[in-house]
Amino acid sequence: MRILPGTAMDRIYLSPPHMSGKEQHYIDEAFRSNWIAPAGPHIAAFEEELARYIHIEGAAAVSSGTAAIHLALRLLGVERGDIVLCSSFTFVASANPIRYLGAEPVFIDSEPDTWNMSPIALERALEASLREGKLPKAVVVVHLYGGLAKMAEIMGICNRYGVPVIEDAAESLGSTYCERQSGTFGHFGVFSFNGNKIITTSGGGMLISHDSDALNRARFLATQARDEAAHYEHSCAGYNYRMSNVLAGIGRAQLEALDERVEARRAVYLRYYEAFGHLEEISFMPEWRGTRSNRWLTALTIDGMGYEGAASAILTELGKNNIEARPLWKPLHMQPLFHGVGFFSHYESNEWSYCEQLFRSGICLPSGSNLAPEDQSRVVGVVHDVLNRYGMARSRAL
Ligand SMILES: *Cc1c(COP(=O)(O)O)cnc(C)c1O
Repeated sequence: MRILPGTAMDRIYLSPPHMSGKEQHYIDEAFRSNWIAPAGPHIAAFEEELARYIHIEGAAAVSSGTAAIHLALRLLGVERGDIVLCSSFTFVASANPIRYLGAEPVFIDSEPDTWNMSPIALERALEASLREGKLPKAVVVVHLYGGLAKMAEIMGICNRYGVPVIEDAAESLGSTYCERQSGTFGHFGVFSFNGNKIITTSGGGMLISHDSDALNRARFLATQARDEAAHYEHSCAGYNYRMSNVLAGIGRAQLEALDERVEARRAVYLRYYEAFGHLEEISFMPEWRGTRSNRWLTALTIDGMGYEGAASAILTELGKNNIEARPLWKPLHMQPLFHGVGFFSHYESNEWSYCEQLFRSGICLPSGSNLAPEDQSRVVGVVHDVLNRYGMARSRAL
């Protein structure tokens, strides 16, 4: 652990990797068999084990979640000049691959029940595109911070328009809706195993689908699109997107611990909820009816008269105490990168959006599955002090 000069306190991270100790066994196996390669037995095993865990036909292990989104869009035929609808309230990786293919995103607002894609705004966007005679090629719906979007409604709307859905479940592995795993509702689902996610391979991703032909096509595109021929024949452009055998080994051990990781993150959330849930001005990200969030990050907003600036004051104070915390994602429709692109608000007018409101008042607190209770008490103590400074009703200590 790094220690800041002048403090004796270890840094508390937002969402650090959490190794189970069993990873080394799989890594050793890769070394023993000399499969230090972007091929090898751990890859197929990791794919099968993950597919079995989430109850889906198959999975293709790739180098990142971003690569998986890129492949899904490509498999759906997205190309230059196309439109793809995408959640606005998300990390930039949800939308970047749309541009890789020369297509343009149109962003969709969030709604209060889930903080995720608003079915109302989605419907409005699809109506508008139908009027213009150009339906989007796909919809990318994100399950932010582990909380599920309203998938029954969103799938219903998209099916009516005949537009396929990609679920960006990079943050929601292990979250469910009516006991069904996130990522399995759309035509494709995407997971990430980046170092900050609920399980990690240090870097990696997974594309999942009920369509095993599509997954074979994804594996083909991810290995430079080599046709069957000893001399390396190519008839279309591919990518170098496969996951390495060593990393897939780490993934196998991490997957074994996933249930525990979900429980641990939910327990972290619960402790924050116990400390601040009774405060009127604080709202935690909701868990919509029938859904169960992995609570990848505990996210909350602070609203109300006199509390403008409270969220950023908390971030500043946590920073001074060597604690890593973050504002909520800045909506993509507000990013300079996407200046001028289309946006559909949850409200009648595009002047105001729900996701902007979240961004202006929200923060994520340290939520690692390995966050020690005494460290979490330190976080709660700092937040609590700032809230008191704002005159908020005294919060309960842990
Ligand atoms: C992490 C993340 C991604 C990208 O995953 P990488 O593996 O880092 O490429 C995509 N979307 C969301 C919502 C993410 O949080």
